[in-house]
Amino acid sequence: MTDSSADHAVTATTGSDLRDLLQYVAARGAAYRERVGDGPAFPSAAAVDAVRAALGSLPDGPTPAADVVGRLADAVEPALVASTGPRYFGFVTGGALDAPTAADVLTTAWDQNAWNPLTSPVAAVVEDVAGAWLKDLLGLPEDASFGFVTGGQAGNTVCLAAARHGVLADAGWDVERQGLHGAPRVRVVAGTGRHATVDRALRLLGLGTDAVVPVQTGLQGSIDLADLARALADTSTDPTIVCLQAGEVNTGAFDDFPAAIAAAHHHGAWVHVDGAFGLWAAAAPATRHLVAGIEQADSWSTDGHKWLNVPYDAGYAFCAHPAAHVAATSYSAPYLTGTGAEAFRSPGAYVLESSRRARGFTTWAALRQLGRDGVADLVERCCALARRFADGLARLDGVTVVNDVVLNQVLVRFGDDERTGRVIEAVQDSGECWMGGTVWHGMRLMRISVSSWLTTEADVDRSVDAIVAALAER
Ligand SMILES: *Cc1c(COP(=O)(O)O)cnc(C)c1O
Repeated sequence: MTDSSADHAVTATTGSDLRDLLQYVAARGAAYRERVGDGPAFPSAAAVDAVRAALGSLPDGPTPAADVVGRLADAVEPALVASTGPRYFGFVTGGALDAPTAADVLTTAWDQNAWNPLTSPVAAVVEDVAGAWLKDLLGLPEDASFGFVTGGQAGNTVCLAAARHGVLADAGWDVERQGLHGAPRVRVVAGTGRHATVDRALRLLGLGTDAVVPVQTGLQGSIDLADLARALADTSTDPTIVCLQAGEVNTGAFDDFPAAIAAAHHHGAWVHVDGAFGLWAAAAPATRHLVAGIEQADSWSTDGHKWLNVPYDAGYAFCAHPAAHVAATSYSAPYLTGTGAEAFRSPGAYVLESSRRARGFTTWAALRQLGRDGVADLVERCCALARRFADGLARLDGVTVVNDVVLNQVLVRFGDDERTGRVIEAVQDSGECWMGGTVWHGMRLMRISVSSWLTTEADVDRSVDAIVAALAER
């Protein structure tokens, strides 16, 4: 494709031109995906440096669409992170299954506004169907409300907004109308290992991070029940939200839901569960015991773009109290009343956006492609591969697997902090695979997350070999 910022007017790319363009990007995207496992797992600094120049400058006039897209692909592709490939183990990052990837392309082509049943009835229907399937798979109450949000951060924010409504309504306070000025003080009891997105949600909701009553966590990151009891007693009669966790972001550990939820409810608290990736344990027979009792909570958030391997952006906020959910996130406007927009579930009433992407299509496609057994298999396979990593590494001299590998997360120490840092860097430099670092109980550790449908035993063995080579080198 040539670089022509031509001085002709913008013309619609229609008919065969658009068809050619979309076929070109389909072929280009497929070619990228076919060879993503052959290239480095992370781009070189030089490849990233080259992108700015390749993007060019803002042209004065229009450019033909085909040239624009060709230039974009040429500029960006050499610098992509191979997170859709089989040996990317950074953060908790899923790949993207074929059906939802293709459905995402259609979502873009259709460009539906999934705000309400008037802007797109079909987007509302598909979210309805996919939402019911999600509740079924995750073992959540059938009558829970749900919103298709952008990810775990938005899920925590929506659920905590519903929680804020619920606990303040119980105290006789209408937070949506009266705000927080003069409101009873809300306390948020949460483990020290909570995800940072919980704190950001508290900031955004005006509760502030000082509202947190921290609870100690055990060695694996689960909440300490005796300290939870102490924290609940400390909150006296304040309206209280308890944040529990399914899948600690380093270790993958789970809180003791039956005991923690019972204690919190005895206190009159609202229980929110952050299950960004760990909630998917509910979808597999081998891991379901880890989330036993979780359905007793009041709200739950999870991601689609992590373990379900839906492309970004995909997350879900569920709430056992639909009225609290809607009170926190819905609004009405003159152009919505009397128009039939109230006729059935309005997707935009359960999330933070109004005009929004039709997120139900990709989730439906992932669930339909995998089926119930396929989701279970994805979860169990990733867990088995995480154990394979742990077994392969624990055998090596000077290498310690620090966590109980209960899920898909593995934490590894190579002697001391310095050496661990050097090994992480050497593995990243090798391009063979990519895993990041973390600090856990004051120790620098390598963090491995197995979250992609594409990863095989051979990929794990090859990655262990890359770590062995890095150890020899540093
Ligand atoms: C990833 C994660 C989040 C945030 O999810 P995003 O999709 O990145 O917004 C929240 N909680 C936990 C435990 C996570 O792992």
